[in-house]
Amino acid sequence: MARAAPEPSPARRLLREMVRLVALPLPAQERLDRLVATIARHLVAEVCSLYVLRAGDVLELFATEGLSREAVHVTRLAVGEGLVGTIAAEGIVIATSDAQSDPRFVYRPETHEERYSSFLGVPVVRSGRVVGVLTVQNEKPRTYGEDEIEALTVVASVVAEMLASGDILDPSRYADAAGRPLQPRRLEGVRLVGGIAVGRAWTYAPRIDPARLLAEDPAAERERLDRALAELRASLERAFARHQLGGEGREIVEVYRAFTEDAGWRRRIEEAIATGLAAEAAVRRVRDETRLRLGHASDPYLRERLVELDELAERLLFHLSGRDPVAEAAALPEDSVIVARNLSAAQLLQFDRRRVRAIVLEEGSPTSHAAILARALGIPVVGLCRGAMLEIEEGDVVAVDAERGQVFVRPGEALLEAFRRAEENRLQRARALEALRPLPAVSRDGVRVRVEINAGFLVDVEDLAASGADGCGLFRTELLFMESDAWPDRERQAAFYRAVLERAGDLPVTFRTVDIGSDKPVAWLHPPPEANPALGWRGVRLALDRPRILRTQLAALLEAGAGRRLRVMFPMVAHVEEYRRAAALLDEELKRRRAAGLGLPAALERGVMFEVPALFWQLDRLLPLVDFVSVGSNDLLQFLFAFDRSSPVLAQRYDVLAPPALRCLRDLAERCAAAGVRLSVCGEMASQPLEAMALVGVGVRCLSVAPTELLPVKAMIRSLDVGSLAGFLERALAWPVCSLREALAGYAADHGVVLPPPVRPVAAA
Ligand code: PEP
Ligand code: MG
Repeated sequence: MARAAPEPSPARRLLREMVRLVALPLPAQERLDRLVATIARHLVAEVCSLYVLRAGDVLELFATEGLSREAVHVTRLAVGEGLVGTIAAEGIVIATSDAQSDPRFVYRPETHEERYSSFLGVPVVRSGRVVGVLTVQNEKPRTYGEDEIEALTVVASVVAEMLASGDILDPSRYADAAGRPLQPRRLEGVRLVGGIAVGRAWTYAPRIDPARLLAEDPAAERERLDRALAELRASLERAFARHQLGGEGREIVEVYRAFTEDAGWRRRIEEAIATGLAAEAAVRRVRDETRLRLGHASDPYLRERLVELDELAERLLFHLSGRDPVAEAAALPEDSVIVARNLSAAQLLQFDRRRVRAIVLEEGSPTSHAAILARALGIPVVGLCRGAMLEIEEGDVVAVDAERGQVFVRPGEALLEAFRRAEENRLQRARALEALRPLPAVSRDGVRVRVEINAGFLVDVEDLAASGADGCGLFRTELLFMESDAWPDRERQAAFYRAVLERAGDLPVTFRTVDIGSDKPVAWLHPPPEANPALGWRGVRLALDRPRILRTQLAALLEAGAGRRLRVMFPMVAHVEEYRRAAALLDEELKRRRAAGLGLPAALERGVMFEVPALFWQLDRLLPLVDFVSVGSNDLLQFLFAFDRSSPVLAQRYDVLAPPALRCLRDLAERCAAAGVRLSVCGEMASQPLEAMALVGVGVRCLSVAPTELLPVKAMIRSLDVGSLAGFLERALAWPVCSLREALAGYAADHGVVLPPPVRPVAAA
């Protein structure tokens, strides 16, 4: 039965009227004027004034009911000056029945405020920053009650939302009236995908529609809050179980869990709901208070606690807002820098890649699929950038120097100029490398290395021949699967694969069969929860258990490959038997086509990805069965060193240039060469010129790289003496070190091997 809505309180009536006002098509100033008049009327005050923080830490009277109209946009107070300036400086509420005898009071004659004795002022807070001050004044001396203070505070939080939405301020004016600290900030992170870019921040955070700030029925809002908290707790439990967190990770989840049960935190949200805010607006308000306290807290323990509360509120908002992330991603403006706590490959796929200039993550790791995807798309990424969500405001200009893992927020003109110069240098270097495009990757001592590209989209293989690549060594078909809401049927898949092959022309394309599971989820398959999804039901394991998925894909590949050269490889093979079973499905599909008199590929090659170390000790049985082996170094390394490749904590701990990893690859190269099986490396290490150099040094003769790295890798090979490097590595692989990175960089410098210098904005040093 529908609950009868209770009679709205006066504060709620005011809020409702404010929202109605915002919806009216009025000029910005008139809207503000009517807003303050409405607040004054409802709070039975003679005066209501709104001051907004402008550039240079100045509070400007933007609208008033009761003070002299001439004072609007004329009266200005520095932060810290007068009662209004004190509220802004300290983020406090001031209520007094005798304002003029307060020592902090300053008089501005143009306002004619001498006749008002009582004063109540509250900060207008957004994202933890004071962006303005809202005041009411009365002629008669009076004491403002708790209820009135609370009502004005709630109204101020709604005003903050409205200011931010650009609804009541002219957006061109809002940009400098938003009260952002205008000093540039520099945030430190680590390079996940190199490059530099400048754009405007777009925060991947829940958005609240100003029209939905208020709710008629507090009881219903409390229920929504309860549900969202329960969902949040359940998702924390799942994360807890899934990651089997130990040590610090476990502590963090425990802390969050405790916070969701924190009575004080919850009470503050409920109080805000009781004043008439919708649950999400209430959570946001409490979060903003937390952020405000954070700005003033120096005790590290308190700060940490406040940061955790802030993160929790953010997560809770996602659960409450229930917004459609796909629709939000579709509205991404041009030249955006996406700022997020973390981003999955699936989330990244929702964006129009042409609009994303760079990505800044509070978490992230270099071989996570989102980072790989960003690399493939040529998008610079800075990860492990603590405080990014707190420090960067929506719409801020952000200059990202992913080479150094630095992010400049609201940079000054000199810095922007340095970025422009660096971009120009990058373009110049890229133009210089262009000459290499038609040339083969042959080393100085005549060793030919095939350099192919990794792809996942049609555009990646557009004009493949003209790109200078020798082929496509890894086509990640799962991206098609991840982009679809439903499982793509055979016709759709075949059309897509055919389009890929057509664009690739005569060059070979290696299709990897669907590699879903783990951090590559698809909307139409719900795997059971697993403690370690990276070691779980993924790749060929999943495909063999759901043979219809694999069969359909193989049928589509054969159909698209009729009359052409086709390469098929299977991911995450741990046992020769798994390969045999997958290859048997391919044979069956071939047989079916043959029997039906349908066209067959002119040449069909089959292979496996070498990602699971156990395969190494089955090479004697495996190599006679395959045409090629392709090393997935991202997964191989995580299994060799037993570290989660998506873990931000371990992101920099294990190096692909460690002797054990390189020895494994050297031995594999020897075995493949002896068996006459082609070996390539398609993991991310092949895309880094220094790592690619090491791979060639241990005997790898085919690399499949991110398209953006094709020419830098070619340049490296053409300047390399492979024989000399192999001799050096033979010795170095025996050294008792954790990484040969420095030694290899030294070798390159001493032997004139061309490694592209990172693109760096000079003034940023
Ligand atoms: C790899 O593991 O190196 C690889 C290429 O596969 P993916 O990164 O898609 O898991
Ligand atoms: Mg892999």
